[in-house]
Amino acid sequence: MKRPFVTREQLEKLVRQVPTPFHLYDERGIRETARRLKAAFAWNPGFKEYFAVKATPNPAILKILREEGCGADCSSLTELMLARRCGFSGSEIMFSSNDTPAEEFVLAHELGAVINLDDFTHIDFLRDTIGGIPETISCRFNPGGLFTLGASAEGFQVMDNPGDSKYGFTRDQLFAGFRRLKELGAKRFGLHAFLASNTLSNDYYPTLAGILFRLAVELERETGCDICFINLSGGVGIPYRPDQRGNDIAVIGDGVRRRFEEILVPAGMGDVAIFTELGRFLLAPNGCLVTKVLHFKHTYKEYVGVDACAANLMRPAMYGAYHHITVMGKEEAPCDHKYDVTGGLCENNDKFAIDRMLPEVELGDLLVIHDTGAHGFSMGYNYNGRLRSAEVLLRSDGSAKLIRRAETPEDYFATMIFED
Ligand SMILES: *Cc1c(COP(=O)(O)O)cnc(C)c1O
Repeated sequence: MKRPFVTREQLEKLVRQVPTPFHLYDERGIRETARRLKAAFAWNPGFKEYFAVKATPNPAILKILREEGCGADCSSLTELMLARRCGFSGSEIMFSSNDTPAEEFVLAHELGAVINLDDFTHIDFLRDTIGGIPETISCRFNPGGLFTLGASAEGFQVMDNPGDSKYGFTRDQLFAGFRRLKELGAKRFGLHAFLASNTLSNDYYPTLAGILFRLAVELERETGCDICFINLSGGVGIPYRPDQRGNDIAVIGDGVRRRFEEILVPAGMGDVAIFTELGRFLLAPNGCLVTKVLHFKHTYKEYVGVDACAANLMRPAMYGAYHHITVMGKEEAPCDHKYDVTGGLCENNDKFAIDRMLPEVELGDLLVIHDTGAHGFSMGYNYNGRLRSAEVLLRSDGSAKLIRRAETPEDYFATMIFED
């Protein structure tokens, strides 16, 4: 059973100050998750989580994560600017981008960020852009083919197809790339890969670590490059459905430790630092979208119309993603009504839920759409002239703080050019 991190009383107070819809984040949950992650990798002295800024680009959230010892993983110019404004500097910033414009490499270099190259041709592009190669540099690996995990304890199969994904160097390019980077003056090397998204398996990181650790040993032997860190990137998932079992980050950290001791330590590489770039795992369960029931519609199906729409949370429309819904105050009521829960976009895929069993919903009910703390607000858009919502932080002491105001029509018109 999924329970919201906020009570109905708290929400009813809150919606008197901040009109629905809005995204709400749980400071306590964010800090606890960050601490569990850190504890799981405490065996590795150089461990660092670089939070994937694209998941939840909000200064208040980034500040909390920085206080918990996290760095920032950026992938665009504005994310780099945001990280800088939030106080991240130098090696606290990872720049993992692809199809990268020159100006982004320039800013990343200016900030002293660790640059994680996506392609062999970016080596010379970077050199020509910033007039050399930084002493610390990282490359992203793509093994091609199909990436599978055997059936895990959860009975969940991870199948992703790196062979169809646009990211990363091939194996041969990686060997050539490390040699080239060394020639151009690089001294400290990193290796990165992101092979599967939203994995519900304690085996994903350990399996990926096994692949990268073996590759790192070969790379160091054959190229003489000093590999200082291995970046397991994102991809640790969360149970969006109430019947799914979540990952155990302590088990995951221990699985990575065992591969480390089997592969890297005997190769004399026991000083390698482990990095992660988790977004979803840290933030998704610690955020929700709060929306109010505006209308009922009874045609060929039963519709519940709410004041949020896909422009506030794109995942259900884009991927058919499941997000659990709680009708606030009716947590214990039987789910004996079947509804489509819809937003107001002129797109029939603007449905937060299809044929969802819920307690009987009434006009004015507050709905909590769960697990929207990552890739939720940040994937928002302005289609149909819909405005982006506010973001609110539920602080550890129970008080609430506005951490982003809602857009106004003025914001919507700000970039338009009207001919007189
Ligand atoms: C999106 C992304 C992440 C975060 O992925 P999650 O699924 O949120 O963990 C990490 N690293 C890179 C390079 C990404 O593009």
